[in-house]
Amino acid sequence: MTSLQDIVSLAKRRGFIFPGSEIYGGFKGFWDYGPLGVELKNNLKRLWWQTMVYDREDVVGLDAAITMNPQVWEASGHVAAFTDPLVECKNCHKRFRADHVVAKKKLSAADLTGEDKLLLFCSKGEEHDFTEPKVFNLLTEVCLGTTEPKQKAYLRGEITQGVFVNFQNVVSSTRVKIPFGIAQIGKAFRNEITPGNFTYRSREFEQMELEFFVTPDDKESQRWFTYWKEQRMNWYVDLGMNPKHLRFREHAPDERAHYAKAAEDIEFEAPFGWSEFEGIHHRGNWDLSRHKLTYKDESGEEYIPWVIETSGGVDRSALFFLLNAYHHDGKRTILKLHPQLAPFKVAVFPLLANKEKLITLAQKVKTELSRSFITAWDDRGNIGKRYLAQDEIGTPFCITVDFDSLKDDSVTVRDRDTTKQDRVAIPKLQDYLSPKLE
Ligand code: ATP
Repeated sequence: MTSLQDIVSLAKRRGFIFPGSEIYGGFKGFWDYGPLGVELKNNLKRLWWQTMVYDREDVVGLDAAITMNPQVWEASGHVAAFTDPLVECKNCHKRFRADHVVAKKKLSAADLTGEDKLLLFCSKGEEHDFTEPKVFNLLTEVCLGTTEPKQKAYLRGEITQGVFVNFQNVVSSTRVKIPFGIAQIGKAFRNEITPGNFTYRSREFEQMELEFFVTPDDKESQRWFTYWKEQRMNWYVDLGMNPKHLRFREHAPDERAHYAKAAEDIEFEAPFGWSEFEGIHHRGNWDLSRHKLTYKDESGEEYIPWVIETSGGVDRSALFFLLNAYHHDGKRTILKLHPQLAPFKVAVFPLLANKEKLITLAQKVKTELSRSFITAWDDRGNIGKRYLAQDEIGTPFCITVDFDSLKDDSVTVRDRDTTKQDRVAIPKLQDYLSPKLE
């Protein structure tokens, strides 16, 4: 199995993900996406938006502010209850989430490695001596305004509430009718007790969420819950995630928010164990009722809709797509990313970097392909090294312009996964690549 360290070092080496504020020693729980990481993340978000908004008649988009009136978080219950149980070791004073400690205690000490081991043992190998758990609120506070004391507000702990507080605005400004959804992608912030496992648990991260409003009816809402579960799982599988490493996990009753009528997570089998990266939640009428919002249907009947939510993490998905795509066959490291997710779709090489005619033709090929596909250029080292470098970042096709190209107007196209090479006429390149990249 791919180790997390394989991905951490590839991500750094090739410009996917860097530690945040690295030149100042980093900042725990914060990460920066490099030139390739931003492309991967943008591809994920674009494909999600395409599926959840553009391909449907019943979903509209929204982009709410990150910082909202603090009353929003009072009403939503976050100020009182957006908490994790915190324990502290009386000896080494490290702090952990009590529920994570309990989960790890079920494993034998021999199975524990890395960050998991730190949950149970002090650096000297002795077991931690924990305090009783206390409640720790995850909301990140900010201070605003020019007069002292400044106004306390919060960076949003989930992007969800921005949708609920705009429910009425969306209903009255568009033609949506229940059942309908509001989709949003954006940053959320949590003062996590133990950020870790690379980007998996960060303090700043992005969510992609749908809040789908349905009539307050058990059967109808259950039907939509099942529908969205399937839709979301299929989305990951269609983008190349191996179904063997995916599963649903139903929340135990004591794990569910008190208002939730049902909750299931989509989990990925990560090197650090099965881990949530999207939740499908039946939130009932909790949020709209807390914000005192209702819906009036065409017959004039007024009611509080129920909500089915799909809440995914962009960063956790990006990490799991990288883990899923990583292959090493002894000679090559290949990121077998779905072409739609790959940062570059095609790379163009002149066979030699010092032959002007080759460069000119290769540049022409690159310029033309760039109109349709994100295209890389490489003229360093030999062709073999260039192939290896593109395999490692997941570029599905490499195109070499050689001396024969100057005579026959054709190029060699090499496939990342099979390494099979085809000779393709330059004017036919677009037709050759398009179906393979879709
Ligand atoms: P966990 O139990 O792992 O703390 P959660 O159940 O609190 O997660 P949700 O509140 O359901 O998570 O958030 C929805 C999604 O947002 C998660 O499935 C995940 O993809 C993402 N997410 C939540 N917290 C983080 C985090 N600290 N870092 C990165 N992504 C996160």
